[in-house]
Amino acid sequence: MLDVAEQATDYDLLVIGGGINGVGVAYDAAGRGLRVCLCEMGDLAGATSSSSSKLIHGGLRYLEQYEFRLVTEALAEREVLLKIAPHISWPLRFYLPHQPGLRPAWMVRLGLFLYDHLSNRNTLADSRCLKLDADSPLKSSFKTVFEYSDVWVDDARLVLLNALGLRERGGSVFTRTKVVSGSRKNGHWHIGLKDRLTGRTEEVTSRALVNAAGPWVTDVLDGLSRAAGKTVRLIKGSHIVVPKVYQGDQAYILQNYDKRVVFVIPFLGDYSLIGTTEVEYKDDPKAVHCSAQEREYLCQVVNDYFKNSISIDDILWDYSGVRPLCEDKSSNARTVSRDYAFELEDENGRAPLLSIFGGKLTTYRKLGEHAMDSLARYFPMAATAWTQSCLLPGALTIDECLQELGQRFSWLPESMAIRYAQSYGSLAYQFLDGVSSISDLGMDFGSGLYQREVDYLIHNEWVLKVDDLLWRRSKLGLSLCTEETCVLADYIESHVQMGLAQGTLNRIG
Ligand SMILES: Cc1cc2nc3c(=O)[nH]c(=O)nc-3n(C[C@H](O)[C@H](O)[C@H](O)COP(=O)(O)OP(=O)(O)OC[C@H]3O[C@@H](n4cnc5c(N)ncnc54)[C@H](O)[C@@H]3O)c2cc1C
Repeated sequence: MLDVAEQATDYDLLVIGGGINGVGVAYDAAGRGLRVCLCEMGDLAGATSSSSSKLIHGGLRYLEQYEFRLVTEALAEREVLLKIAPHISWPLRFYLPHQPGLRPAWMVRLGLFLYDHLSNRNTLADSRCLKLDADSPLKSSFKTVFEYSDVWVDDARLVLLNALGLRERGGSVFTRTKVVSGSRKNGHWHIGLKDRLTGRTEEVTSRALVNAAGPWVTDVLDGLSRAAGKTVRLIKGSHIVVPKVYQGDQAYILQNYDKRVVFVIPFLGDYSLIGTTEVEYKDDPKAVHCSAQEREYLCQVVNDYFKNSISIDDILWDYSGVRPLCEDKSSNARTVSRDYAFELEDENGRAPLLSIFGGKLTTYRKLGEHAMDSLARYFPMAATAWTQSCLLPGALTIDECLQELGQRFSWLPESMAIRYAQSYGSLAYQFLDGVSSISDLGMDFGSGLYQREVDYLIHNEWVLKVDDLLWRRSKLGLSLCTEETCVLADYIESHVQMGLAQGTLNRIG
């Protein structure tokens, strides 16, 4: 059950935006002892933060733009994430096929040398060069690949785990709650909230405000009547999901003639995730979608490299997001910096407003730390940075979790145990405790999804709509059929309505 006991309406810090940057700052702030509230107008990770390539990576190609600060910080975060969230992140080996007509071998070797040496690796293997044999899934014209390490992460669940960690530290999280107004009075922010589920509104106060609205960062500033010095440049990126293109655990990074790179990543056992494109975007960030041209482009790049070819008819799912990059006047979408920047202003030393521009999933924790360091002078009693070694909720290695699930719940089918271990880690015990057979799990929604898990997700992980569950808390949207989805949607709707009527869901007002 959600904790609805004490809902303060006066906070130290209110964060606008439940993407990775918003939850990262809010989680860090709560651990420093601040009373924190986070408001997300849609679902947690409902925008860019569930639309990424799902990599915790240094960004090999950013070395070409001399982004050494960003790459160094990002490389170090790979080991941190593997430690604090071992259930939702794991090492991934990348193969970069050598294309003589594109980047020369010496340049790739130099890039990989820097990649290996800018980072403090404890667990990730070194890069190396491999000769390909006839079994390679690549076309026979490719004779050599460069192999290096990066890290895979479930992006949407990384956001969720930070929100859970925030709540564990006394923070309030309101989803489908839009920040609609804000003004300063007597050294405090007075902030208007609107619950998009119930229509209720409420005014809360806060000593500081963080604008982590991602693609909407300047819209929020307009709403607060503040002018931004910085602006965002929206760059659309799309991914497609197809049945596995090749066997093997390795991912591929494919160079294209437009100088872009496209990843082909093993996805959920049976699929390949392919992306991304980079297209300048001017429309509503909510309306972003994968165009026919982008689908063709991604299929074409894969077909240039692999023996198995794919067509747009093989696409089972696609998704798009917009990168809210900090405008640096680059002429090309590909070369706009992926680094983040802050804008901080206050009124006579009180009621600060910190706006976040840009960033990557990979660097969210450092961004949170830097954001709170820059607000430290307004909160002299706050503790210092702490997130580097603190495990996120449920943290358990997948092997440890599978072993424990096998011992305690031996009746659990292997496919479900694997999904639970890779999504929840030890959080799975919250809905498995006391269950001794599959029938104890309640109603069967298909593809290994049962009532106990759905109830847990509604009451503990802010699931309010069917898509929250199918595409962000899990990726079961890929396997449930239309009929099963309708049954699940009805179940969630009726339970959310019941929760609202009984006051068991954490809402404003
Ligand atoms: C195609 C693509 C691939 C990527 N791949 C990677 C990758 O592999 N690795 C990596 O490190 N990074 C990657 N990134 C970058 C990364 O995904 C983004 O930098 C990151 O998700 C941005 O997070 P955010 O919190 O700033 O924005 P968002 O996730 O968009 O969150 C902002 C939130 O603010 C909310 N909001 C806005 N206005 C209001 C309001 N008034 N009230 C309440 N809430 C509001 C929105 O609903 C939204 O949920 C990728 C990005 C894209 C687009």
